[in-house]
Amino acid sequence: MSKKKAKSFDVIVIGAGPAGYSSAIRCAQLGLKTACIDNWLDKKGQSSLGGTYLNAGCVASIALLESAKIYQSINYNLKEHGIQVEGVSVDIAQMMQRKNAIVSSLSRQIADSFAHYKIDCIQAKAKLLNGHSVEITQADRSAVSVLEAKHIILATGSSPMDLSCAPIDNEFIIDSTMALNLDAVPKRLAIIGAGVIGLELASIWNRLGSETILLEAQESFLSLTDQQIALEAYRIYSEQGLELRLGARVISARKSSKKVTVEYQDSDGTHALRVDKLIVASGRKPNTENLAAAEADLLLDENGYVHVDENCRTTLPGVYAIGDLTLLGPMIAHKGIEEGLFVAEQIAGLHNQVNYEILPSVIFTAPEIAWVGQTEQALRAMGESIKIGTFPLNVTARAQATGQTEGIVKIIAHADTDTILGVHIIGSQASEMIAEAVLAMEFSASSEDLARTIHAHPTLSKALHSAALTIKNKK
Ligand code: NAD
Repeated sequence: MSKKKAKSFDVIVIGAGPAGYSSAIRCAQLGLKTACIDNWLDKKGQSSLGGTYLNAGCVASIALLESAKIYQSINYNLKEHGIQVEGVSVDIAQMMQRKNAIVSSLSRQIADSFAHYKIDCIQAKAKLLNGHSVEITQADRSAVSVLEAKHIILATGSSPMDLSCAPIDNEFIIDSTMALNLDAVPKRLAIIGAGVIGLELASIWNRLGSETILLEAQESFLSLTDQQIALEAYRIYSEQGLELRLGARVISARKSSKKVTVEYQDSDGTHALRVDKLIVASGRKPNTENLAAAEADLLLDENGYVHVDENCRTTLPGVYAIGDLTLLGPMIAHKGIEEGLFVAEQIAGLHNQVNYEILPSVIFTAPEIAWVGQTEQALRAMGESIKIGTFPLNVTARAQATGQTEGIVKIIAHADTDTILGVHIIGSQASEMIAEAVLAMEFSASSEDLARTIHAHPTLSKALHSAALTIKNKK
């Protein structure tokens, strides 16, 4: 193993997921000499920039969900449109190939941006040695070298959390990454965890024909989501055939005769399920194992999250942590991106801030769920005086014309000032509709501002307008 002294940079970014690549690009745009180190390899052993979000998360998931939605509408909705199709079947290999091609194309786009901005892109595993140096080891361990920088940005993301009662065997008991790479549709599928990941995966495989059972330890469904929306989601998903078992804590899972036996407990006792595959989607953990040498003295909490202040600064001068590594906000790609830009601009001496209060959340199921701001239950718990406007999508002309009638839009405003405090949507294109609400809240809009804004008709976003009008007309 050779050891050679390497270059020095203004900034080294460790990790090329959304937080890391955005930060590296912004640093370079601001004239900082930047390196980005990433160790993600695709199935062929090639570098694939973009982190979990691109390779094994949102993008891969949305690509497959789109295929699954098309398959389902051909099977169930086309007749209504007067379109007859026969002999429909699923070619999973082609579906995966399409998804992989999308991932590769987007990953190449990141590599091209790195090249354009003259960012040193290094395929290796990085370890923080101290506030100014990083050790890098090639994937084949053929070379180790040390890079130096005035500033180091940690952006190594997160990975699926292990569940000791359901050990991953990569064949029958799989994690969320593998669940986006199956080579056949499981006949009967169980998923541990009805969180964002569990629901997104369930939405894909259920539409492709798997009998899908979600086992969720909590008694309440989507407890951080507005409960009116969660209730609507529960109803819609159940009607779609997803079996949601709440208050069901998995206690063991083992392979037997090419199937998995899952044992779980609920208020009625212990039950057993036999399924063809079990997906563990019970949460994610920050990737901080071996991220820093002991002598670096990087402060982590008991769950491995990096300790940071409100400016993403760790306890080591010149070292920042962004994205899934910290507890500043949820594990969401666009939160990481914002922090990446924020830290780059901080380093360059520019003034910036991340507004964690107005951060949209999206669950990419069909229909989608999206929200921004506070939920009704949180506001009521705080004793806030509020008024609410809701509007069902099924009465809008656009929803009826497209047949995407499931869902509602809900606006919560302050009872006295009328300032919008939260917007919650379940429905087709909720992820796109929420952008208007985010912008309105960024500008401290009132619900009347929304009600007085002309919306194109007929559109789905007209439902947001109508929800605002219901508040206005209640006065
Ligand atoms: P999660 O924490 O949202 O959900 C995991 C669920 O598993 C929890 O509800 C938990 O109660 C349940 N669980 C844990 N152990 C269990 C057991 N033994 N039996 C039954 N249930 C059990 O975690 P996730 O869905 O894995 O997502 C991780 C993070 O990634 C979240 O912060 C999520 O927001 C983020 N993420 C976001 C997006 C997006 O923005 N669209 C997509 C993917 C992931």
